[in-house]
Amino acid sequence: MILQDLHVHSTWSDGKNTPEEIAREACARGVRRLGFSDHVYAPYDTDCCMKSGAAAAYRREIAGLKEQYRGRMDILCGVEQDLFSPEPTEGYDYVIGAVHYLRIGEKYRTVDWKKEILLDAAALLGNDIYAAAEHYYEDMARVGDIPGCSVTAHFDMFRKLNRDGSHVDPGHPRYRAAWQKAADRLLACGLPFEINTGAISRGCQDDPYPDGEIIGYLAARGARFLLSSDSHRKETILYDFARQERMARQKSLILLEEYP
Ligand SMILES: [Zn+2]
Ligand SMILES: [Zn+2]
Repeated sequence: MILQDLHVHSTWSDGKNTPEEIAREACARGVRRLGFSDHVYAPYDTDCCMKSGAAAAYRREIAGLKEQYRGRMDILCGVEQDLFSPEPTEGYDYVIGAVHYLRIGEKYRTVDWKKEILLDAAALLGNDIYAAAEHYYEDMARVGDIPGCSVTAHFDMFRKLNRDGSHVDPGHPRYRAAWQKAADRLLACGLPFEINTGAISRGCQDDPYPDGEIIGYLAARGARFLLSSDSHRKETILYDFARQERMARQKSLILLEEYP
């Protein structure tokens, strides 16, 4: 497989390194294709995303790097589009469709930042964590509606803060029904799914998104997958890809080399 990573964050959003630092590191490690995918501007959470109106300058900087590395490494300019962001998705090489929030009335609550925030979302939904899961997967099912969406990001990120199993039982019938409904909808759209190692590199989980049970469900229904690191610092580009490639081979997964 071509050595590539297409889900990488830089200082344009919440990454720690500049695109230049990331490109230098990637090229030194033999990466053949590098895709930037900074978080699109989202007015409801300005800490993690691009600044308002910064998209054109972001694309210009990546286009400059693309020229600089021509012949050595292909550089793509993507974007990670949160479902609720009103920002346009035109002008990018690809669009990663993602859900990071539970939108409850006018309130936005992150699913992946702090457990108390997630539990607060559950409190807003009648103190029912499975209602929160259902809410999350209903929104996840809609990422295919994002214009130009190329791939489903971190499908089951809802479980990120659940390593100790204290708030969600992944075998609970309501949890399983919720993700299966979303999976069926996204499969019908034909969107590929990331095998995203971002929670492994952060020490939050031992396995990628989606987990083994979901990967099995998707694969049995013809899903296509792409490896992604969801890196927020240059050291984690390609994180755990060798192990995930072995897993993919063992399970005979369809691994794509580029976005369709
Ligand atoms: Zn994300
Ligand atoms: Zn990301």
